[in-house]
Amino acid sequence: MSGQLILVGTPIGHLSDLSPRALEALQNCDLIAAEDTRVTLKLLNHFGIRKPLISYFEHNKLMRGEELLQKLQQGCRMVLVSDAGMPAISDPGQDLVARCHQAGVPVTVIPGPCAAVAALALSGMPAGRFTFEGFLSVNKGSRREHLEALRGETRTMIFYEAPHKLKTTLKDLYAAFGDRPVALVRELTKIYEECVNTTLAQAVRLTEEKEPRGEYVLIVGGAEPAAPEETTLDTAVERARTLRAGGMSASAAARQAAADTGWPRGEIYKRMLEE
Ligand code: SAM
Repeated sequence: MSGQLILVGTPIGHLSDLSPRALEALQNCDLIAAEDTRVTLKLLNHFGIRKPLISYFEHNKLMRGEELLQKLQQGCRMVLVSDAGMPAISDPGQDLVARCHQAGVPVTVIPGPCAAVAALALSGMPAGRFTFEGFLSVNKGSRREHLEALRGETRTMIFYEAPHKLKTTLKDLYAAFGDRPVALVRELTKIYEECVNTTLAQAVRLTEEKEPRGEYVLIVGGAEPAAPEETTLDTAVERARTLRAGGMSASAAARQAAADTGWPRGEIYKRMLEE
């Protein structure tokens, strides 16, 4: 009989953010797979939970993943946690979840805090459409490529960054995107929680003046959408002509070209007849 993998979101600072369902799952499981067993032990001690722990992190995920899958297939009820926040979000987890899906092992999720979403909500920046970019690579080439690909991105972008790399990252973002709005969101749910809404140029200056400390999420404004290309009457007539050549009647082609280009049907039709 197959067991179950339970993904559990854990606090990103404030321990009271552990949900009652998450607590219950930790109390009732057979085994907890944790990114860093020492970090998770502190959480478990705080809530008076004693459970067997096994490490599952980036560099043992292939071998350990296979081992965990076998345990699940033998009926183990297993919780997977990362150091903080949601497993699989810039953290290990995705690989094990994919293995479970492939092997037909049931997986469920007990959602919890996620720094990216919490920071976006706190920033007040447009949240209707956004992209999560995680950490930029430390490899210069991959980093440049990543930023290059984002230059025209119109959605709000979310980045994670370590404090000692923040200055460089802000400079790189400024170089790639120019002066855009940015929210520097720091130490969410902790005593020194802060959200500074500024621009990339100003943020570079701020971090030069004061050494960044704590955990950061950067919310960067998207590019201005490109102005739609003006369609000339010639283009509209050309469109109608193509449709006509494809077998449409002149009047249907003019109607379709008008819908596609915004030009009045009558004008397109008249020009078609003249020609
Ligand atoms: N899985 C986590 C989640 O769901 O948010 C993210 C883990 S990732 C390894 C760690 C990064 O998340 C940090 O470098 C920082 O960018 C961000 N982060 C985590 N906790 C945070 C907090 N309390 N305040 C601001 N950023 C935080």
